[in-house]
Amino acid sequence: MRYAIAFLLLCGTFRVEGAWKAGTAKVDITPTEPIWLAGFGSRTRPSQGVRHKIWVKALALEDETGAKTVLVTSDLLGFNRRMADVATREAERKYGIPRDRLALNASHTHSAPVTDTVLRVAYPFGPEHEPVIARYTEKLLTQVVDVIGSALADLKPATLEFGQGNAGFATNRRRVRLRNLPGPVDHDVPVLAVKGADGAMRAVVVGYACHATSLNDDLVSGDWPGFTQIELERSYPGATAYFVTGAGADSNPLPRRTEELSKHYGGALAEAASQVLSQKMTPVTGPLKAAFGTVDLPFADVPNREQLQARLDSKDQYERRHAQYLLKRIEQDGKLWDHYPYPVQVWQFGNAFRMILLGGELVVDYALRLKKQYGWMDTWIAGYTNDVFAYIPSLRVLKEGGYEGGGAMLVYGQPSPFSVAVEELIVDKVERVNKALH
Ligand SMILES: [Zn+2]
Repeated sequence: MRYAIAFLLLCGTFRVEGAWKAGTAKVDITPTEPIWLAGFGSRTRPSQGVRHKIWVKALALEDETGAKTVLVTSDLLGFNRRMADVATREAERKYGIPRDRLALNASHTHSAPVTDTVLRVAYPFGPEHEPVIARYTEKLLTQVVDVIGSALADLKPATLEFGQGNAGFATNRRRVRLRNLPGPVDHDVPVLAVKGADGAMRAVVVGYACHATSLNDDLVSGDWPGFTQIELERSYPGATAYFVTGAGADSNPLPRRTEELSKHYGGALAEAASQVLSQKMTPVTGPLKAAFGTVDLPFADVPNREQLQARLDSKDQYERRHAQYLLKRIEQDGKLWDHYPYPVQVWQFGNAFRMILLGGELVVDYALRLKKQYGWMDTWIAGYTNDVFAYIPSLRVLKEGGYEGGGAMLVYGQPSPFSVAVEELIVDKVERVNKALH
């Protein structure tokens, strides 16, 4: 009997320790020719050099049931729906990874190349730049699919741990001009540590909710999240560092605009993650349950052809380009879209924590509301995942208006601001997806 208990304990221990497998991989996506950089409408020329290399990274996880899940992070402004469709379709075809077990997050660095049609109306570039962007995008998509394959090929026994720290540099940017507005921020620093069977750090995944806009010159870089990853990979030799963007649509790192400040913020987040890693973290057991779905978000006021034609003479260059962009779409498709399929993904890591991965430029109210609903200690909110196609205002921000409330719909080439139903539709969908976890 004593032997039987000892044997069971041994098996129990073995089962938990052997439960996970993890694989890491990264691919260099630094452009090899001058290319227009994403995020700011104010740039007047393509890239003039490289500050540091930029990357797409994949973390593959296999739980004790054999289910494989892949997190992709990137030094990019964003993947759009077409790009995510291509990558997820290919990952399913080549590696059998189902849609709900693949997530594509972007750091939202404003110093990476323009990809596909993301934020297209913002840029003043001429048609000669189109082929460069198309070339870069297509190569990137091949690299994304390949790096997923490399991470899956690297699966080895691993242990996972979760914890949270704090970093204070995200500032609510809506208050910069309108100081009577409330200024919520999310300063949580969720961290996932992945260690090998020998205890060596293999991957550090760190999240933060803030725009990667500390630099606006013409050099390619991952902005401050790039510096965070460089610093963590230096601190943990052999480990791959991943950055996951949170609900930072209305947060900026302030003050900004120098490399020194960018390194400072990158270093601050790396330090916050290191502090979490040096303390006792929560062991993460499986299984990893996943679910994915979309919810149609209606637009408030879709313009017709006549209204758009009238805007072609607007004094505002963005309004003019927006009208041109939408009129072209009417020409192609016969009409404009009056809603948008919004991607919602949830990953439940055993009893340790839950990742809620949402599309678009998510404002901080979603992080605060969803953490309150699902648990402050064990909920990780990611925005900028699977499709960056618009700002996603809460009802408060929508009603307040401004850039994040609706103004940015112009530069994203969307028909109009969202309807007032936007927040409730998303929060309701998160719960539905959560109930569908399998
Ligand atoms: Zn943004």
